[in-house]
Amino acid sequence: MLYKKRDKVQGPYDVIVIGSGLGGMTAANKLAKNGRKVLLLEAHNKLGGLATWFKRRQGDHIFDVSLHGFPYGMVKTCRKYWTKEIAGKIEKLEQVRFINPQYEVSSDFTKEDFTRILIEKFELSPEKVHGFFDELASMNFYDASDMTNGELFEKFFPGRNDVTRFLLEPIVYANGSTLEDPAITYGIVFSNFMSKGVYIYKGGTDELIGLMKEEMLSNGVDIKLHTKIDKIVVENSRVCGVEIDGEVVSCSSVVSNANLVNTVEKMVGEEHFSSEYLEKFKKVRLNTSSCQVYMGIKKGEKIPFVGDLIFYSEDPEFSTDNLLSDKIGSQTFSVYYPDNRPQSDVERYTIVSSSNARYEDWSNLSPEEYAAKKEYVTQRALDCIEKLIPGVKDIIDYVDCATPLTVEKYTHHRHGASFGTKFEGLDVSMKMQEQVSGLYHAGSVGIIMSGWLGTANYGVIQSHEVDTYLSGLEKESGSIFKGESCEQPSI
Ligand SMILES: Cc1cc2nc3c(=O)[nH]c(=O)nc-3n(C[C@H](O)[C@H](O)[C@H](O)COP(=O)(O)OP(=O)(O)OC[C@H]3O[C@@H](n4cnc5c(N)ncnc54)[C@H](O)[C@@H]3O)c2cc1C
Repeated sequence: MLYKKRDKVQGPYDVIVIGSGLGGMTAANKLAKNGRKVLLLEAHNKLGGLATWFKRRQGDHIFDVSLHGFPYGMVKTCRKYWTKEIAGKIEKLEQVRFINPQYEVSSDFTKEDFTRILIEKFELSPEKVHGFFDELASMNFYDASDMTNGELFEKFFPGRNDVTRFLLEPIVYANGSTLEDPAITYGIVFSNFMSKGVYIYKGGTDELIGLMKEEMLSNGVDIKLHTKIDKIVVENSRVCGVEIDGEVVSCSSVVSNANLVNTVEKMVGEEHFSSEYLEKFKKVRLNTSSCQVYMGIKKGEKIPFVGDLIFYSEDPEFSTDNLLSDKIGSQTFSVYYPDNRPQSDVERYTIVSSSNARYEDWSNLSPEEYAAKKEYVTQRALDCIEKLIPGVKDIIDYVDCATPLTVEKYTHHRHGASFGTKFEGLDVSMKMQEQVSGLYHAGSVGIIMSGWLGTANYGVIQSHEVDTYLSGLEKESGSIFKGESCEQPSI
């Protein structure tokens, strides 16, 4: 059922999921399909978290916020854990372009095409290129070495900043990676993309999240929007419930899809964690944030096909600092043609510019400085897209800009982190249940568990953990403990 804003929630629940990002929703759906009684709580007025969209009456536009591309693996994840209908609407992007002072290249973003480009355009030896891909294929999470991305590129392509840019820049946009991050995170994510190219959901984020909502409701998930959770109730190192509007709703387990740092510090409280765990937790670094500029093309106007996803940069060289710089030398353009929403009877085009950003560059500005900085970012996007599509500025009738503060406001991610935490956050997230029985985290962490595919898959992984925990409780007590009292035997 879908609770209304003022409805009182009727517990107890087997599982309460806090946050309706792709990780939270996938976990909620899977657990409900397994027969668990699930409540999904979301602070915002719509589901999806960062997988979101917004409509603007001015110009009658719909903008997708994070629908720029994900690996083919999303098809399997959606088919298995959502519906065939959703999986069937995932399609490959036709053309990914790279335009910068070092090179200009188009690709379908597959290993075969990248191999060809690296040999023909970058004039690398086939042995080096195959060696690089073999090294990526041999990487696995369990034998992770401490090699960094920078060391990986230096090993195979020493002194080749252009090659590093070609191979790493897309992944920097996909998950905030830097040259200093562990190569394993790059290896896993890049290999995922390289398996078949970059994919997108045709129909728009609004349709996708609508279908997910229907599917959850049909599987029995109870959903309540407009519900920000400040407290997860823990007694005797065990989850008891969640405080909703000042009242405790009992549950046997909680899956937090909220930011990892907020979950530990604000919602649970550090007093419930061991000093060893907190020591590791304090070392977790948040990932960086993003700026976006949304541009809507006037009804009736058209733009030519210029590619679907364009990595555009005027920075002479690749560096992490350049990509994060508030000078916006580098940005991606996602160009949405009418076939992005084939169900719509009006032909519409939108363009979204995305750039990586540092929260601290935005957090301490006066209102005037903030407005001026937004205007600068907006003008950069308009000036650069004008170079790609001459005359486009004249047919854009709506422009808006989002900053790290926007991301923070709508998702409550600490410092507007777009991709959760750096690698070390994964271990802390996965070990939360060892600290507090029944408490699980399934949200963007560790670089590899972020992005649409990473978080959805993490939701599945954590739902298995929750299910095993609940089965253990059932075996022990003969019937499932619904959190009516915290004085239960531990398992
Ligand atoms: C600008 C941008 C572009 C991106 N582009 C891509 C892309 O092209 N491809 C890709 O794969 N990924 C992309 N991503 C990343 C991707 O969108 C995210 O990694 C993924 O959607 C995160 O899912 P999540 O499950 O971690 O939850 P989130 O999306 O972070 O959602 C968490 C939810 O929890 C809710 N919440 C938080 N705290 C509370 C609380 N206390 N009580 C109740 N609810 C709470 C929030 O409101 C939110 O709805 C992009 C991200 C950004 C910012």
